[in-house]
Amino acid sequence: MKCVVCENKKVSPLWRELKIVKCDCGHIYYDQNLSKNQIAEIYTGSYFNGGEYSDYLTDKDVIRKNFLARLKTLKRFQKKGDLLEIGSAYGFFLDVAQGQFNVEGYEICTEAATYASTTLGLKVYNADFLEANLNKKYDAVCMFDCIEHLTRPDKFIEKISGCLKQNGHLLITTGDIGKIVPKIRGKKWRLIHPPTHIHYFSFDSLKKLLEKNGLTVVSKKYPGVYRSFNLLFTFLLKRRVTSLPGFFWFNSFDIMEVVAVKS
Ligand SMILES: [Zn+2]
Repeated sequence: MKCVVCENKKVSPLWRELKIVKCDCGHIYYDQNLSKNQIAEIYTGSYFNGGEYSDYLTDKDVIRKNFLARLKTLKRFQKKGDLLEIGSAYGFFLDVAQGQFNVEGYEICTEAATYASTTLGLKVYNADFLEANLNKKYDAVCMFDCIEHLTRPDKFIEKISGCLKQNGHLLITTGDIGKIVPKIRGKKWRLIHPPTHIHYFSFDSLKKLLEKNGLTVVSKKYPGVYRSFNLLFTFLLKRRVTSLPGFFWFNSFDIMEVVAVKS
């Protein structure tokens, strides 16, 4: 696979056993071609239940708290208008944002998309954003903890740029492999898990990809997040835990929240 940031084909192995490579430009990625079927298999209902997340629906309140903070960030730049979320999961962010924006979402996990449209009554399409025929432009596009999962983030960013209005904003969150925790942890960094995480951006490589597509970074933050004890113990015990009440706040300063404007 050639590098999605600089289109270079010459890359060197970083962690050979994980098939993760590093390009000369600094971008790090899982260098394997996944078929559509392999990808579809990852994002079944179990993905949000005991997969990468402990139990998305049980942790609803904690997740909503994090989304309120992200909405606050977006509203510093974009107060209202048409908002599109890519990878909208169960629709909790759209639900939080819908009082202030006209919201729509794309989600490939059928179970999650169905919950969002049926239970929450949101306009969420169970479809691949890249294959969608868009007939309008948006004031804001959001992508939370999603870009690292995409096989072709370059195509997504290109399409997002094309569907943003002039002066519209993109709000994106993902891990930043250039920060201290990933540098210390190396391949043991909690966000290194191919094949669900394919692209490991640093702020610099993300900025490069955005700029290539006419998007200028206007804000970069490393906010902390609320996490449930369910999620923590699922991670520690390596089995699904859903019965613990409560949550905690923590910040490992390795999740970047980036806002870019379409020029
Ligand atoms: Zn590169």
